Amino acid sequence: MIDLPQDVLLVTGMLRRAGFEARAVGGCVRDSLLGLVPHDWDVCTDARPESVKEVFRDLKTYSTGSRHGTVGVRADGRIIEVTTYRTDGPYSDNRRPDSVTFVASLEEDLARRDFTINAMAYCPEEGLTDPFGGREDLEAGIIRCVGEPERRFEEDALRILRALRFSSRYGFRVEERTARAATAGRRRLGAVSVERVFEELKGIITGPGAGDILEVFPEIISCALPGVTPDEIRCAAAAVGASPGDICSRLAMLLRAAGAERAKGVLERLRCDKKTARDTIELVEGLRATLKPEPVIIRKLISKLGKERFDRLISLREAAARGDEDELSVLEGIKKAADSLYALEGRITMKTLAVGGDDVLSLGAASGPFVGRILRSLLDGVLGGSIPNEKAALMRAAERFMLEHGRSGVLRDGN
Ligand code: ATP
Ligand code: MG
Repeated sequence: MIDLPQDVLLVTGMLRRAGFEARAVGGCVRDSLLGLVPHDWDVCTDARPESVKEVFRDLKTYSTGSRHGTVGVRADGRIIEVTTYRTDGPYSDNRRPDSVTFVASLEEDLARRDFTINAMAYCPEEGLTDPFGGREDLEAGIIRCVGEPERRFEEDALRILRALRFSSRYGFRVEERTARAATAGRRRLGAVSVERVFEELKGIITGPGAGDILEVFPEIISCALPGVTPDEIRCAAAAVGASPGDICSRLAMLLRAAGAERAKGVLERLRCDKKTARDTIELVEGLRATLKPEPVIIRKLISKLGKERFDRLISLREAAARGDEDELSVLEGIKKAADSLYALEGRITMKTLAVGGDDVLSLGAASGPFVGRILRSLLDGVLGGSIPNEKAALMRAAERFMLEHGRSGVLRDGN
């Protein structure tokens, strides 16, 4: 029913030959049943970590997680995590169990797992072990806690965001009681480390179901994104869902109403990495700026952002403008103007400009960086369509520039 890869079969086979139970478990079983390729494979076993290390003594093993029952086994170049059946002890910090207890049965191990779709195990010998109806929920597209949702979210608040992340990723519905308990328990998210909250949040807002999640659970998202109100999240929901799928676009759309300053604070509190924060803020500013289909303005924006980021901003503005015919036609105009700029840019560069440094110097400009400034402004004029690329016209434009700025560029407006 599920095709286990060779390296997984090698690991489960060796454990079984040593007299232990061994099955693939969790996310890899879920994704295989969905017809997706799992990104990693976890194996569960009744063997204690010392026995696991003993069974794999001829392979490389990693025991950093062995206190929690996990031994990494390098098989065929990939690391397979082998975890002893366990239950979680109490969660005094709402994050991770203070201790784990090894248990004898697979069922007990599956019972500690968060959602029914994540609580299945599989081996070719015995088939699927599915005590909580995970397969049925998978087929119906439902995220449902194993056990009482209120208690499960109380034990570990991160599960609230995990529920939303899986829902967003697969387009699944969160079952009613699980959903109610998630919303009711949302304030406990304050006790979870911001790094883990932000990781889950990224998964939620970049998933295909992001729009629906933001629409249905704005109060929870607001707890993960302190400083942004549930109303702002609800208002942004559809536009976020329609945005390009990269994290910066999605964050920017979510933070558009907050504005660049507040957005900066939010990203700092989430300990967002610098590059993502910078790109996101740039997009927030670009989303709020007034754009016109004027070549000079577009040219400036393209030279500031580069083509790729300019194109992403325009897609993002289109997502924000859905239904607003006026803004959409402005954006159409901008895209057309940008296209002809790109086409021109291919042909006209500083080198093919009809005047050069010597021409500008012959007008009496002081030599040095000012010459470059004059040429740059002439090129802008040509690319922006305000000056033809002809010597006479360019010389006149250079003279005008020098009248405004002086022979060495030191004059300012009003001088
Ligand atoms: P992904 O594809 O995102 O890796 P996954 O299901 O493999 O999804 P992991 O975080 O890798 O998720 O966890 C592996 C398994 O461990 C899960 O399928 C689930 O059974 C269990 N698990 C993980 N985190 C929790 C948690 N906070 N509470 C309960 N069970 C959990
Ligand atoms: Mg995983």
